[in-house]
Amino acid sequence: MTDIKVNGLNEPGLTFHELEQGFTIKEAITEAGRCLNCAKPLCRTGCPIDNDIPGFIYALSRGNIGEAREIIAERSNLPAVCGRVCPHEKQCEGHCVLAKKQQGIKIGKLERFIADFDAAMHLSRDKVPAKINGKVAVIGSGPAGLTVAGDLAKQGFNVVVFEAESEPGGVLLYGIPEYRLPKKVVRQEIERIASLGVTFITNCLVGVNITVDQLFDQGFDAVFIGTGTALAKGLDIPGKDLMGVIQATYFLRTIVLYNDGKIDRKEVPVYKDDQVLIIGGGNVAMDAARSALRLGARVTVVYRRTESDLTALRSEYEGAVAEGAAFCWQASPLAFIGKEGMLTGLEIATPTGKTILPANKVLLAIGSRPAARIVSTTKGIEVNPAGYVITKQTPYGMTTLKGVFAGGDVVHQPATVVLAMKEAKRVAKGIAAYVQAKKLLEEC
Ligand code: FAD
Repeated sequence: MTDIKVNGLNEPGLTFHELEQGFTIKEAITEAGRCLNCAKPLCRTGCPIDNDIPGFIYALSRGNIGEAREIIAERSNLPAVCGRVCPHEKQCEGHCVLAKKQQGIKIGKLERFIADFDAAMHLSRDKVPAKINGKVAVIGSGPAGLTVAGDLAKQGFNVVVFEAESEPGGVLLYGIPEYRLPKKVVRQEIERIASLGVTFITNCLVGVNITVDQLFDQGFDAVFIGTGTALAKGLDIPGKDLMGVIQATYFLRTIVLYNDGKIDRKEVPVYKDDQVLIIGGGNVAMDAARSALRLGARVTVVYRRTESDLTALRSEYEGAVAEGAAFCWQASPLAFIGKEGMLTGLEIATPTGKTILPANKVLLAIGSRPAARIVSTTKGIEVNPAGYVITKQTPYGMTTLKGVFAGGDVVHQPATVVLAMKEAKRVAKGIAAYVQAKKLLEEC
């Protein structure tokens, strides 16, 4: 397990170690044995990437874990990730017929078991086809970029991934906290994609270190943009520049960098006994709240709507409450209050009037949008007024610039890992069809 230096000090047992324990082999096979193997498997219908869930569960129930992993690999490049962070209760598990009797199969946990067991035992291996079908540049290595890279490599494309950070993974590595998604797991999944022959070039910010036009000059047949939504939204109210007003995604990123020994503890901007307010009600807000609690802070989440309107997963909200986060509902921020440049509180309006909540840190978790580095340095890629890249149906995922494709959050607004993967899988097909047609025309 990763050495967690940033540790919870306020609550015994509240650490960054993974919360959810996986199945033992006996538990996994027993759970798989409960599957009814329905003639019409609704679990599969509920999976955005059409995973052959009954297939891999059946293989597992017979103890064929390598075969189960191979079945998953036909549709997914990130099973250990999806097994942990997908909203299963709304997808596969929510559709399981046994869920009506509160006895639904724990599909996410089974997927996670198969992927983890296989990674530890090296049971299955993907076939590595010869790279004869063309050269594709993938910009960004979050779930969208990794899916395009994996799917195209399996089809014999020569794929090079260009990533701005020093390590691939996108939000999987730098956003979702260790206690929900251990970084070791993300790295294992990426190693498997690399073993398909995918090359990763890190510390390369496309639009600054290299342009899309230069990628074409280097002989790439197509370019995929999977750059997510890197720009966190600010709150344009008085006091926004006070020391102590921080983006939640920045805070989460510093924890990963600190744990990796890349920055000092003092650069992680939350300390024991800090009074922290989190503004927002989505998964980022819950991750920031629960991470700040682990650093010994006192945490209140400030949300402009009611409990039933929270966009965060119910389990994330309940986890935050159980760990000690307070919630302030129907609270609209009016101004950051400060003294000598330092934050001291947040003025809010509630249905009962205005009040000031004391705080020395506010973490903003109110959304994000795409950066313009690539579109501003490449002629012909159109975006909508909010900055999201416009793509076509045919070939699927192509932007308004020939040969340049896009997918994931940079097109569809921040969503989920599996929705980014779903789109990326469709775009990978679009890229394959485009490159095949391009090669054919070149031969003619
Ligand atoms: P990203 O994951 O954002 O990846 C984009 C990549 O592109 C990054 O690596 C970035 O460094 C790189 N990049 C950007 N610009 C450039 C450039 N110019 N040149 C080179 N590289 C570049 N979803 C779930 O399903 N379950 C969850 O529990 C969940 N929790 C979340 C928690 C947090 C804190 C956050 C922020 C998101 C969470 N999500 C969750 C949402 C999910 O992570 C995203 O929807 C998903 O990561 C989007 O994938 P992507 O590949 O489009 O973008």
